[in-house]
Amino acid sequence: MNATATHVDSSGVTITDLHKSYGKVEVLKGIDMRVEPGEVVCLIGPSGSGKSTLLRCINVLETANSGTIEVAGFEATDPDVDLDVMRRHVGMVFQQFNLFPQMSVLENCTIAQTKVLKTPLAKAQEIARDALAKVGLADFADRYPDQLSGGQQQRVAIARALSMQPSLMLFDEPTSALDPETVGDVLGVMRQLADEGMTMIVVTHEMAFAREVADKVVFMDGGVVVEQGDPADVIGDPQHERTQNFLSRVL
Ligand code: ADP
Ligand code: MG
Repeated sequence: MNATATHVDSSGVTITDLHKSYGKVEVLKGIDMRVEPGEVVCLIGPSGSGKSTLLRCINVLETANSGTIEVAGFEATDPDVDLDVMRRHVGMVFQQFNLFPQMSVLENCTIAQTKVLKTPLAKAQEIARDALAKVGLADFADRYPDQLSGGQQQRVAIARALSMQPSLMLFDEPTSALDPETVGDVLGVMRQLADEGMTMIVVTHEMAFAREVADKVVFMDGGVVVEQGDPADVIGDPQHERTQNFLSRVL
């Protein structure tokens, strides 16, 4: 089957009864989750609860053991899916931004476009400059990563992902490695993306961001979704003791 031929464009994510084990250790124990196109879902929970594993399963950096994931119109869990094509639709931003140190900011934002998408360089640079403007770094195109603060590097990482013009964006603790004074700029960029209608799944410990920006908050613990719903409910009025305990430690 040609997976691209059946691709129906959508930015949503539907996860059904997802299980993932490392050896004998089951890390995801039956996750059900739905992200509508244009929605921002914040994934919260203690360290080790499986948040990163879930994100990595969504763009198939990890292979699930069972269950299904539909992402951006692709059956990510179908063994026949063209992962290279699917991943072009999914931007990912990590805690460690991993820019290419020997490349300028602009080159960091054009390299995948020219190599993977075969976009002509001039067009790739135009798209990259638009993305850099969006993250507030239009004047930094010719700098190198080591000339930037952590927050600026993370904003370049976001621009790099946006330069691929993804349908949705996954963020795994994008501000956890940053100096406190640069966190706000990165969250501001993410908030603006959300306002523009980008579909986003964000693993974060920034509860104020989750409360203000998320359409839905999902609390995970021990590889299961304990509670999910409106941020005002899950963060403001959690029903489960495990959610209450977690929030009392991070708020
Ligand atoms: P979180 O992002 O919520 O902190 P993770 O998804 O990183 O949680 O990890 C969930 C659990 O899976 C942890 O117990 C972790 O030790 C384990 N784990 C994660 N990645 C691997 C791996 N590659 N091999 C074995 N165990 C792993
Ligand atoms: Mg993690």
